[in-house]
Amino acid sequence: MNTTEFFSVVERVYAFHGRRAPGIVIGVAMVHKAVELLGNVKKQIAFVETRTCLPDVVQYLCGCTIGNGDLRMVDQMGKYAFSLFNKDTGNGIRVFIDINKISLENTPELYKFFLRRRDPVVLTSKEARKASGELVVKEFLTVADKIIGSEKVSALDLSKPELFEANICLNCKESFTTPSKDNNICPHCSQEFSYYKICEQQS
Ligand SMILES: [Zn+2]
Repeated sequence: MNTTEFFSVVERVYAFHGRRAPGIVIGVAMVHKAVELLGNVKKQIAFVETRTCLPDVVQYLCGCTIGNGDLRMVDQMGKYAFSLFNKDTGNGIRVFIDINKISLENTPELYKFFLRRRDPVVLTSKEARKASGELVVKEFLTVADKIIGSEKVSALDLSKPELFEANICLNCKESFTTPSKDNNICPHCSQEFSYYKICEQQS
């Protein structure tokens, strides 16, 4: 893939992601590497080790999504890394950022980006964030080939998460899935878990 093609892919992923984040450019290069090394496979499944940027790149470029079950979030790992597996064999490629190959001297902004040590002003100033982001990308492009590490891996468990049966909540009358057949109150109504409160009931 030439540079023009690469950046046209980046633009499409930017649009999907909704932001021109440096993690997208880095992610596109990582996904390309994983896809190239994995080769042509019928079905693939991805495990992504971070919540930031990379899941969107994988979803957009690999068609492995949260909704279709082929993107598994393993972000408790906390690494800018992911694995792409052949779903039929469980063999795959893991790609990651090799921080030991990033030079603080030659590519300081990139180094600080991955260690989350950029000037705190990037959190408060849009202009500073943009300038830093552009610098991260610029530095990354000079070393992209060297800093994306890869390894052959095999999956420990590709089984599907269990699908529960559905009950109708006695209180709100909505159907909900639950591991227990005897549970007739949804998490919201039982106050076991919720993320909203109702302000006004419609119809
Ligand atoms: Zn309910």
